[in-house]
Amino acid sequence: MKMLNQVKITFAGRSVNEGFARAALAAFLVQLDPTVPQLADMKTAVSEAVTNCIVHAYPDKIGPITMTAVRITITDRGVGIPDIAKAMEPMFTTGDAEERAGLGFAVMQSFMDKVKVSSTPGRGTRVTLTKRLDARA
Ligand code: ATP
Ligand code: MG
Repeated sequence: MKMLNQVKITFAGRSVNEGFARAALAAFLVQLDPTVPQLADMKTAVSEAVTNCIVHAYPDKIGPITMTAVRITITDRGVGIPDIAKAMEPMFTTGDAEERAGLGFAVMQSFMDKVKVSSTPGRGTRVTLTKRLDARA
């Protein structure tokens, strides 16, 4: 069985680490020889997923966020999402309406080929982001 090259990093859910997650993802994924736009898309999607962990998963504490690549997953152990379909609707937000547009999942979906969310309320959430890199556009 061929093993996919894989990295797994766990970091604290602090805003400053959003930039770290983007840089770490890019550093690992360059070995796949992505185009600059493909890499930018993946970094944008990961930023949205990590921001969601910081803002929503851990509303009043700092908790751990685990990121994997090449198979991109972002996992938290936070509050979870009670209704995933609803949460993924464009412009749905449980956040502060002044600050949140409710467009994070829509951004992830537009920049990636597939966005899969699994969540257990009280246990946490995992977002899996898939993008085909062989189709050069
Ligand atoms: P924006 O991303 O535009 O700033 P937003 O974060 O509210 O606003 P989405 O990223 O689309 O919008 O997320 C929609 C909703 O899904 C959130 O308001 C929140 O209720 C829920 N959610 C998303 N990610 C998580 C998570 N990791 N843990 C708990 N709830 C989440
Ligand atoms: Mg968001």
